[in-house]
Amino acid sequence: VRVAVIGCGIVGCCVGWQLARRGADVVLVDPAEPGTGVTGWSFAWANASSVTDDRPYFDLRVAGLDAWRRLAGEIGGGWWHQTGHLRWGDDPAGAVALVDRLRAWGYPAELTGLAALEPAVRCPAPAAYCPEEAWVSARAVAGRLTLGMERRTDTLVDITVRCDQVTGAVLASGGRLAVDAVVNAAGPDGHQVARLVGRDLPLREDPGFLARVRCRPVPIGRAMHTPHVELRPDGDDRVALHSREVDALIGSTASLFDELQQRAIDTVPALSAAALIEGRVARRPMPADERPSVGIAGPVDGYYEAVTHSGVTLAAIIGEVLAAEILDGGVDPLVAPYRPARFC
Ligand SMILES: Cc1cc2nc3c(=O)[nH]c(=O)nc-3n(C[C@H](O)[C@H](O)[C@H](O)COP(=O)(O)OP(=O)(O)OC[C@H]3O[C@@H](n4cnc5c(N)ncnc54)[C@H](O)[C@@H]3O)c2cc1C
Repeated sequence: VRVAVIGCGIVGCCVGWQLARRGADVVLVDPAEPGTGVTGWSFAWANASSVTDDRPYFDLRVAGLDAWRRLAGEIGGGWWHQTGHLRWGDDPAGAVALVDRLRAWGYPAELTGLAALEPAVRCPAPAAYCPEEAWVSARAVAGRLTLGMERRTDTLVDITVRCDQVTGAVLASGGRLAVDAVVNAAGPDGHQVARLVGRDLPLREDPGFLARVRCRPVPIGRAMHTPHVELRPDGDDRVALHSREVDALIGSTASLFDELQQRAIDTVPALSAAALIEGRVARRPMPADERPSVGIAGPVDGYYEAVTHSGVTLAAIIGEVLAAEILDGGVDPLVAPYRPARFC
């Protein structure tokens, strides 16, 4: 089976790698380098604890963490940082309720003080600690997964179909690939690829601003959600910063970085000496109902979707289940609620 995977973000790379591992003839198509789309501008926290009101989606995310651990076991995991996650809010009752809910669902979580775990952080109240969560060097793992794979540095502009079956991918350079299947892993541009087979994949505009700052030593040890800012390490001398409050200022005249930096310094004073390396507004690939679109999509055979928010959490499990669906048929129960047909 020859499959064109459109998009070398973390999702396309995981799908392509799993397909190739299982014997498919895979070609990855992307005009950009692996992991430089929204994947490179993600807070990149692999988690289940952000979803406590939707058990099937929570379970998919738990499976996502397990799939990453399997992948790290297979290819080596310098990009997988399982240092746990901390969350606290202005109201201490929130952390207590979160831990209770997660434990009731059998998920490792505990209440903890921060003095020992994160001495550089100002936190007046106990935090919810999820020791099995991680942050991912997302660009790095995308690059690692593409090693040795066939790649076209090009843009998909059309999908050819004969007798309701995908037969080819047409590239902007004029090149044509004869393929049996196309996987739409184009992230925030997934709706444009869907349109090539006459499909409407509704994506919601949901931009986010991520910044990386340089600081040595790095004053924090793990990903954390504080009341006004999210922080995590980003390597030996960098910290990544994000805030939903700052996302809400996108499009205004505010300096997004100044807003983010002030919130970060209020929480971790040692970051006052940190210098901006890079910051960008990126588009989340957010299906209208905020859930993934995974699997064969129609209206033609051989067209599959792998478009999702929380792609850093879900890419490894989506890679596993979609490769199995393409090569063996059947639908994994984990993704049964997230079929593309719901958008028809
Ligand atoms: C600020 C922010 C914070 C986030 N935080 C988290 C988080 O903590 N945890 C989490 O799990 N998720 C998080 N996300 C979401 C996560 O980053 C994305 O869901 C994930 O990166 C999507 O990966 P992708 O491979 O689908 O998309 P991308 O990385 O964008 O890859 C898609 C690729 O497709 C290519 N492409 C597009 N059109 C074509 C075409 N026609 N032909 C060929 N190639 C094409 C693009 O060039 C691109 O390289 C966050 C997102 C943002 C913006």
